[in-house]
Amino acid sequence: MIKPETIEQVRTSTDIVELVGGYLPLKRVGRNYRGLCPFHSERSPSFYVNPERQTYHCFGCGAGGSAINFVMVTEKLEFPEAVRFLAKRLGITVEEDRMPGRNQALYDACEQAAVFYEQQLARSSSAQAYLERRGLGRETVRRFRLGYAPPGNVLRGQAKRRGLAEVTLVSAGLLVKREEGLTDYFYDRVMFPVFSLSGKVIGFGARVMGDSEPKYLNSPDTAVFRKGDILYGVFQTKAYLREAVPILVEGNFDLLSLVNAGVNHVVAGLGTALTPAQAQLLRRYGGRAIICYDGDSAGRKASRRALEVLLGAGVDPQVALMPDDTDPDDYVRKHGGEGLLALLNQALDFVDYLLAARRLDSVAEQRLAVAELAGLLKLVGDKVTHELYANRIADRFRLDRRSLPQDSGQSAIQSRPRPTGAEERLVGMVAQHQELARQAREMRLSDALDDPALQTVCRLAEEHADDVGYGPGMLIDLIDEEEMRRRLASWTFVDEGRPTDGTLRQVGARMRTVKAGWLRRLADAAYERGDTERADLLNAERSRLLGSAAAERSVRS
Ligand SMILES: [Zn+2]
Repeated sequence: MIKPETIEQVRTSTDIVELVGGYLPLKRVGRNYRGLCPFHSERSPSFYVNPERQTYHCFGCGAGGSAINFVMVTEKLEFPEAVRFLAKRLGITVEEDRMPGRNQALYDACEQAAVFYEQQLARSSSAQAYLERRGLGRETVRRFRLGYAPPGNVLRGQAKRRGLAEVTLVSAGLLVKREEGLTDYFYDRVMFPVFSLSGKVIGFGARVMGDSEPKYLNSPDTAVFRKGDILYGVFQTKAYLREAVPILVEGNFDLLSLVNAGVNHVVAGLGTALTPAQAQLLRRYGGRAIICYDGDSAGRKASRRALEVLLGAGVDPQVALMPDDTDPDDYVRKHGGEGLLALLNQALDFVDYLLAARRLDSVAEQRLAVAELAGLLKLVGDKVTHELYANRIADRFRLDRRSLPQDSGQSAIQSRPRPTGAEERLVGMVAQHQELARQAREMRLSDALDDPALQTVCRLAEEHADDVGYGPGMLIDLIDEEEMRRRLASWTFVDEGRPTDGTLRQVGARMRTVKAGWLRRLADAAYERGDTERADLLNAERSRLLGSAAAERSVRS
């Protein structure tokens, strides 16, 4: 790994105007430079370079980033190679840091454990027979790197030989402290490695082969594995998720059976109810999803909840009607991939799904149904989609649209307001001004943001608020996601002119207001749960923030 100091030196010594100017002619326009975009074909220039922020942005195609990022794209290099490329131009010696990243040890431990479990599967005929009985072919087993955790403390026993520190295995959730000492967390189970989006093993799911309990077991949450943040199978299936509406199933075996039958556009939860973060992850793949859960009462309840979470995250959901007491795994093994796709073709949107299972003979029943639908409708943030569904509901009951209940109080989940442009502008300011980043850190502004992408940027800004060379160029280099990098770069071209102290104070006040709104929602939820003590604490914190926001605003004049 390249030392952070070297990266910083490369970043501060590189002149982005001079660098980009080596690839295309640039002309000065005000404080920026302009040229013909190298990333799309155009006749009049819409590609800008900002020397002060050391960023570039194309108003035509949306490309944008930092100097390092520009080299990555144009020279087709990975980040470290791009840094070396720039260092060479500048005559800077690249110093390597032998200390790997904070979480590298955990990733290594998970990867090694995955290899270990794969090897154990190859030696266990009973585990192989079990997977065969479940209908999984070799290719599926290999692709998802299924394994087997043997009984006894075999992983612990081999840790030293495999160069794994016990303390790391504990942090990775693979060993656990019990009365009798450190023991393997997983034993006598079929193992399902869980992969990050980029393909690193970050945790495991596991299933017993017989009937003992608990049937399913997941790794505990660790520094690199949070069950609520990731979907099972998404690394292997993500390439397919954009080609067809993603199918959401509950269990590992559901997913593996579907894939085994050639249905690849599928992801699964991780043994818990669908979380908003998982729904956001799913939203990246086209904004729609088909819920395909078990055909029993637990599955139907879970479907109803998943509907709400997906609607709240801006995903347009449908529900597949699985026959009674059948799960997708059974169904696909009986009817094949084609059969399952035919079933999915009949999936219902949330209006039809809710009404399908209801008797609507009496006015009282109809009223209840309307109220429930209105509760779900409230979660739909997209204006057009909202209108279309509102019309559908009104037509269905022959109601005037305006008589749909505005606030039914039926919805059990805490709906978060949709992210707004205001939130984006706020984070844009935080990214560009170190003083604001410090304030954001102090109040933990990132917690209060609705858009997960903006939350990531804000959290990075808070983490690096005191770094030398703080600014958007540096943040861009810390962000993995292309789309977010581009957005960050584009912000540096929005705000022309240096902000005054007054503007900065106003932004500070707005930050406090956003955070206060978030605290209020938490307090309301605490009251609803009957936790008045917590609610009072949250409200006190909120008043304090609002007080200081008011004070900041009054300084302005
Ligand atoms: Zn362009």
